Amino acid sequence: AHLDRIAAVDGEINAFLHVEAESVLAQARAVDERLARGERLGPLAGVPVAHKDVFTTSDMPTTAGSKILEGWRPPYDATVTRRLREAGLVILGKTNLDEFAMGSSTENSAYGVTRNPWDRSRIPGGSSGGSSAAVSAYEAPLSTGTDTGGSIRQPAAVTGIVGMKPTYGGSSRYGLIAFASSLDTPGPFARNVLDAALLQEAFSGHDPLDSTSIDAAVPPLVEAARQADVAGLRVGVVKEFGGEGYQAGVLARFHEAVELLESLGAKVVEISCPSFAYALPAYYLIAPSECSSNLARFDAMRYGLRVGDDGTRSAEEVMALTRAAGFGPEVKRRIMLGTYALSSGYYDAYYGQAQKVRTLIMRDFEAAFHQVDVLVSPTTPTTAFPIGERADDPMAMYLADLCTIPSNLAGNAAISVPCGLADEDGLPVGLQIMAPVLGDDRCYRVGAAVEK
Ligand code: GLN
Repeated sequence: AHLDRIAAVDGEINAFLHVEAESVLAQARAVDERLARGERLGPLAGVPVAHKDVFTTSDMPTTAGSKILEGWRPPYDATVTRRLREAGLVILGKTNLDEFAMGSSTENSAYGVTRNPWDRSRIPGGSSGGSSAAVSAYEAPLSTGTDTGGSIRQPAAVTGIVGMKPTYGGSSRYGLIAFASSLDTPGPFARNVLDAALLQEAFSGHDPLDSTSIDAAVPPLVEAARQADVAGLRVGVVKEFGGEGYQAGVLARFHEAVELLESLGAKVVEISCPSFAYALPAYYLIAPSECSSNLARFDAMRYGLRVGDDGTRSAEEVMALTRAAGFGPEVKRRIMLGTYALSSGYYDAYYGQAQKVRTLIMRDFEAAFHQVDVLVSPTTPTTAFPIGERADDPMAMYLADLCTIPSNLAGNAAISVPCGLADEDGLPVGLQIMAPVLGDDRCYRVGAAVEK
């Protein structure tokens, strides 16, 4: 049924970069055989999933949305991919994304833009826009994404689905093509909170192959989603997120969600997190800095594209030609920003300063979580914007991540759940629920109580 749906709508949506049509039924039959042999698979055995094309898959191409990896077939599975295979999920294919996950609209993909199923002239969010569109358009029941600065929560919000950024280190980065290693976090997309909890539980847990993986028990996510009760919970409304620059319809749905929480027995208070105002600039120094270092591995020798290797040029010339041809404009912009921020003489003023801001943001969260169990905000300041509207204005594009980035810098858990449609345009609005590090279960508990 999902393959039929993909065949019917993906020509226009362009959620998928690669569909594994021939193998889907074979994968499903193999799961049947495993069950017949008495193997105990998880609750998602046989359920299809689509992977953001930034997770390596041993039997499918992996491009990260970039020309520089066109045609590359990884020799191994990412931990997320492998664990979901082991749990018996069937891989439908790989989804579109902003090149190397850099963007908020999926317009930076080298393979064309993905369209928002609610209004095909609008963006599906990004960078995991293929994964959000696939689930929103019923092309897949579940998908994976990565959230470095909001790239799961923001696309979930603007396509009317659930998207969760787990605690940093709670889901393995092994086999995830790196953008900013101290921020990159794999997470789930689903059409309801319980499904997202099932998916996250299926790939979570300590991974010795990722040195930043947390060696602790996975919080009881599915149990929390089933509990779906907020009575007595203390909820903080982040004072800094709202007001100017926020769409009226987004704020209206957000305030209704807060009233709903109150009517369900939560105790709502306003919380000030003054350092959150500096999260965006700090992120846009830290993330490009890490990217400039991570993307050095695309040197024309190890993977994918190689340009100008005709026997007359040096390795350095081939590398330069390949990177010039293989990387898109946003990736080049980030590499230049990051290289500058890390360079001698500027390091302390930019990168060092941004790291100090990061510490202040962590302290704001710590202080807040002494007073409340979760924090809430709109996920994004606006609903999905028209394709092309912010393409030439990086600053306007970056603002889409205003509310999501603090949780990336601090590493805590945060989810986006649908909270209705904006009056102006009838497009989905997301409610963000933020919880402390390893408090992922709280996101699911509160999310399940209020999701629309
Ligand atoms: N939009 C942000 C950026 O471009 C976040 C990306 C992400 O979370 N992968 O960096």
